[in-house]
Amino acid sequence: MQKIIDEFDGVLIDEYGWEHYQIKGKKYDIRFDRSRLEWACDCPAFTYRRKFRKTYCKHILEIQDKNWKRKRDEVARLS
Ligand SMILES: [Zn+2]
Repeated sequence: MQKIIDEFDGVLIDEYGWEHYQIKGKKYDIRFDRSRLEWACDCPAFTYRRKFRKTYCKHILEIQDKNWKRKRDEVARLS
């Protein structure tokens, strides 16, 4: 799994259309459900927060931040 994720620039898309992300040094599986536009993470903080429908954990925020920066860089390259 790690090998596949590396080959796709940190993203693996599974058969259900879920994007899987990993943060270096962390064992958590951070997921984005593209059909429902929902994020999920394996870590205890996210599992706890979800019960109260609160915000994302720091892993999800880190991935979202990385994605945003990558998009911004792509736009900068094209313009
Ligand atoms: Zn997390």
